[in-house]
Amino acid sequence: MSLYLNQLKKKNNYSLPVLLYHRVVTNESARGKHKIFVWQKDLEKQLLYLKENGYQTITFFDLHANPNQDLTKKVILTFDDGYEDNYRLLFPMLKKHHFTAVIYLVTQINHNAWGVREGEPRVEMMTDEQKREMSDYGIEMGGHTQLHVDLSRCSAEEKWKEIKGCKDDVEKLTNKKAISFAYPFGGIDEEVKRITKEAGYEYAVSTNTGPKEFGTDKFQIRRIEVTPKTSLSSFKSKVSGYYFYPSFIKSFFTGKQTK
Ligand SMILES: [Zn+2]
Repeated sequence: MSLYLNQLKKKNNYSLPVLLYHRVVTNESARGKHKIFVWQKDLEKQLLYLKENGYQTITFFDLHANPNQDLTKKVILTFDDGYEDNYRLLFPMLKKHHFTAVIYLVTQINHNAWGVREGEPRVEMMTDEQKREMSDYGIEMGGHTQLHVDLSRCSAEEKWKEIKGCKDDVEKLTNKKAISFAYPFGGIDEEVKRITKEAGYEYAVSTNTGPKEFGTDKFQIRRIEVTPKTSLSSFKSKVSGYYFYPSFIKSFFTGKQTK
């Protein structure tokens, strides 16, 4: 146990770590300016660390089926947007380690149109067949709106369409319930949360906002982002269950949220 981890333990109560990823990439040309990716070789090291240290990956389906389970040494791996590299690179790694994950799908566009508008390279999303194959394997598919909009800037009517419409799309695609949702750009207000609940989701994840302890607010679950800068030792503290990164510190370093 590192000194740093001991300090974290003293400061915080245990909270189920919910990690936030986007793309998985293998070459320099694939990277965009917002750095919403991890290198495949880094992810492999991270998964190996989880495996060798007895971690279990779970989904919101597992939590919903068994809400009172012991959460220690468990982690939820989430991947936003539904990029094609999730099928090509992530899926084989998950299978190899017998791990699972949650993927949040944007259901009405086939590439990252919102990112392209900000100067990101165009990246394709997974095909319906690929999404279905991963879902059938046991990867949870959740909602992430139809068009990747900032919900906090939408009218109530648009919010409902983006949130409930997306849920219907995911359920039609996977033939399973969509029980969790991820707010694009971390855009949340009270109306967004209320509509997400009314649409029938059971859980919703934010980016780096929300209460410190998992389960305190099921509609604003804090996630911990893993980026290309996350070293293995930093990853260890991120999955320890004692890691806490308040949003005001992060916005101080990075400015506006872009994901
Ligand atoms: Zn997103």
